[in-house]
Amino acid sequence: MSAASASPPEIIEVEEKRVACDGGNAALGHPMIYLEMGDENHVACPYCGREFRLKAGATGGAGH
Ligand SMILES: [Zn+2]
Repeated sequence: MSAASASPPEIIEVEEKRVACDGGNAALGHPMIYLEMGDENHVACPYCGREFRLKAGATGGAGH
């Protein structure tokens, strides 16, 4: 483990598999993009590295 030179990726819990990310910060932000988790229950933003995780209990439309 090396000393962190950047903030660790932020993890955000969401209730839907489709999320929008714009970096969440005017200075460090990026154009808003939509991310699809697909078959996964998490997805990382390629711009800012934030990770979105599907909340436990959320179906994401997959059903039972
Ligand atoms: Zn982002």
